Amino acid sequence: MENLIHEKYWLNRLNRLKKALEKNNFEVFLASTPSEAKDVVLKEIIPRTQAKTISMGDSLTAISTGIFAEIKNQPNLNFLDTFEPGIPFEVAFERRRQALLVDLFITGTNAVTQKGQLVNLDMIGNRVGGITFGPKNVIILVGRNKLVPDLETAMDRVRTYAAPVNAIRHQAEHPELDPPCTQTGICANCTHPLRICNTWTITEKSFPPGRIKIVLINEDMGL
Ligand code: SF4
Repeated sequence: MENLIHEKYWLNRLNRLKKALEKNNFEVFLASTPSEAKDVVLKEIIPRTQAKTISMGDSLTAISTGIFAEIKNQPNLNFLDTFEPGIPFEVAFERRRQALLVDLFITGTNAVTQKGQLVNLDMIGNRVGGITFGPKNVIILVGRNKLVPDLETAMDRVRTYAAPVNAIRHQAEHPELDPPCTQTGICANCTHPLRICNTWTITEKSFPPGRIKIVLINEDMGL
């Protein structure tokens, strides 16, 4: 019963958000679960875009839906894996450059405001780059926990939560990535050479209209 109440509450919020995003020229889909989101992407969006080349920006939300594992298994799709475990940094870096020219780029967002603006902060810039320009189509998967009232709250959420947790996450694979927030959990606006916070973007609207497709998921997902 408690779950049903939560789901109804969030469905109402997500329906309002869908309208706000559509006003900003994003194409929007609603999914109740990560598995439903995966089906929307694989069965509805990808066939419609006729994408042949697909790549990704770092996103725990997108990864945890299982979308990339399925795409890799489809012989008619050419998947450029920019986060393949074990590849040298130079190779990953070059793949991230090439990923800016694919047919379809799939990623997540750090926050979305009630007015339908996407707010992101990147280390390298390949994720915000792909969202902004290059790939013909973009899919952004968004858990309900990313919804915030306004831009100020969005940036606060990223600075005080998403960025430090993301730094800790990446440090597990790259021990040299040790800005102060990996020890304290608090952003010190550091000058660390491997600082993960370098470029902010606010995506106010999709241009051209419909280029950015957003799948809102009625579950808490990602950072
Ligand atoms: S600016 Fe530095 S301390 Fe702050 S969250 Fe980013 S990496 Fe961590």
